[in-house]
Order: sequence, then structure tokens, then C-alpha cells
Amino acid sequence: MLDPILIDTAKFTQEGLSHSGETTLAQLDARVFTHELLADTGDTVHYRIRGGTDRWQRPFLDIALSGVLQLVCQRCLKPVPFVLEDHAHVVLFADEARLDEAMAADETLEGMLYSAEIDLRTLLEDQLLMAIPFAPRHEDCNNATLARVNQDQPNPFAKLAGLKSDR
Ligand SMILES: [Zn+2]
Repeated sequence: MLDPILIDTAKFTQEGLSHSGETTLAQLDARVFTHELLADTGDTVHYRIRGGTDRWQRPFLDIALSGVLQLVCQRCLKPVPFVLEDHAHVVLFADEARLDEAMAADETLEGMLYSAEIDLRTLLEDQLLMAIPFAPRHEDCNNATLARVNQDQPNPFAKLAGLKSDR
């Protein structure tokens, strides 16, 4: 597991700083690398976290995650690729009362308590766990086999070429 990525929250949000990088699932918290739906802990997640202040002068963190993860298909238990494209806008509140009030007023709001120092690694782990689908499945569990069979069939263009030359 890698070290925490600690930010000075006031500086990070007021100056609109950002931090980006990539990590394998194996380098993250046990909640991630022992997750029952994640098939390959060698998968890489790219992340970008940007700080800012909104029009109500509230500090926020924008978290963007991307990558391709192998999840465990809940039908056949084989890996199923999942394209991760997750974006979260998390507003920071000074105290619980203000957080509750804002969350009650806006159901879509993501908020958390402000603290002078925030660990971005925990933040991206939390966000990643929320982004994993509840029950990943192949559209068709036999699809991979079907695709191979189709490739073995004669190319339709080759057939056309044959017809032309027969004229
Ligand atoms: Zn499947």
C-alpha cells in the first residue's frame, strides 16, 4: 500500500490545485484489493483530483477516475471488463449541521466534512468503491465463444470476390 496523499485543504481548494496519477488496485486499501467483485488487482486506475471554491465560497474537490477493470461476472464468475469513467464533485462543509442542511436541500449533492488535511488516497478509494456496479454481468456469457466461431467462418467479401470471378 502506498503512502497517504495528504493535502493542505485550504491551499488546495483556494488555489485550485490538482493532483493526478495512477495506481494499481493492489496498491490501494484492503477494502479495494480484497473486494469480491474485482477480479484483477493488477488493474490500473487513473485519477485526477482538483480543488476549487464554488460560487457560494464553499471549498470543493472534483474527483475523476478512469480505467478498465476486470470485474467478476455474477452469472458465470468469469472476468467481465468494466470501463470506469467516474466523476464526483464533493463539497466540503465546516460542520455536521451545515452538511446535513445542504444535503437535505439538494439530494444530488455529495458532501463531506472539512478538515485541515485530507488524504486524497482515501478519497479516491471511497469513490472507486462507490463506482463499482452492484452486480456486473456479461451481456451474454457465451459471447466470447461466439465471437471466435464467427471469425472462423469464411469472409463474406471473399465470397463476393469468388462470385465476380465466376462471371
Ligand atoms: Zn458471465
